Amino acid sequence: MAEAPKSEYYVGVDLGGTKILTGVFDEKLVCHGRTKMSTKSERGAEEVIDRIARCVSDAVDECDLDLKQIKGVGIGAPGAVDSESGRVIFAPNLQWEDVPLKKLLEKKLGVTVSVENDCNGATLGVFEKELQGKPRHMIGIFIGTGIGGGIIIDGKLYSGFNGTAGEIGHMVIAVGGPKCNCGNRGCFEALASRGAIFRAIQAAIKDGQKTVLTEMLGPDLTDLRSGDLRKAIRKGDKLVEKIVEDAAEYTGIAVANLINTLNPQMVVLGGGVIDALGDEMMAIIDETAKDYVMSGTHKGIEIVASKVGDDAGIIGGAVLARRAAK
Ligand SMILES: [Zn+2]
Repeated sequence: MAEAPKSEYYVGVDLGGTKILTGVFDEKLVCHGRTKMSTKSERGAEEVIDRIARCVSDAVDECDLDLKQIKGVGIGAPGAVDSESGRVIFAPNLQWEDVPLKKLLEKKLGVTVSVENDCNGATLGVFEKELQGKPRHMIGIFIGTGIGGGIIIDGKLYSGFNGTAGEIGHMVIAVGGPKCNCGNRGCFEALASRGAIFRAIQAAIKDGQKTVLTEMLGPDLTDLRSGDLRKAIRKGDKLVEKIVEDAAEYTGIAVANLINTLNPQMVVLGGGVIDALGDEMMAIIDETAKDYVMSGTHKGIEIVASKVGDDAGIIGGAVLARRAAK
């Protein structure tokens, strides 16, 4: 016989530029079911919010639950978010400007909705599920197409004066470095994200350098993924190895800056690039960070890769919903 139904459930939503992921979680953050749908942001905000609502309802139905049993829905959205009002101020990947996501979704679902920046949400997910809320001070860094982060101080998410703290992808690490999507040059994101790694490889190929990636994927590197970089390195590809090492070194410098500024107990790295290349990058990140941190101040600070992988976003959403319900 199935175990007796628990009364409190939360739905976490990871709203990305290409896909919407949802998961239904119980009070202890155990996942009971999930759904996935493409975002179709080109159809406009109304349609995307419709799709989120459908995704949430489907996940709840998959678990043989009713929306009435859901205590809250939490969403991590890719961009600047006013979490007080639940508005997405600016989300370039979705082409959204000032969208009242909380209000519109609550109308469709009849459930309380909380909205946060996606990386802030994912940091909360790692903090509460993976680390059981133990470290008092912690930083999450997520390296994927772009780079984002979240800061936990004294067990609470630090959002700053305008609610946009944690934009660590736009820390400038190399003055005059490559151009970033934000318009500046030399940002962490422009040096160590998947996009930055891909651009460096493409530039090297144009320059006449050789890589097994062109044999694997063709001259234009169509559909290049982080996992292909790992395969290339394991095949002995020196070019890819060097570019990934450079990205790891920049990441180490970023980590050192954060440690010098905030002195966290833990720095946790996640996202697609770390999930695929953690074995290749983590030792370099750790070493570089310790090289650059002010002497003697890193004692006991742990720099680790997250184990929750792609689930950080939906877990974070559930944590947001659970926090809002309390
Ligand atoms: Zn930038």
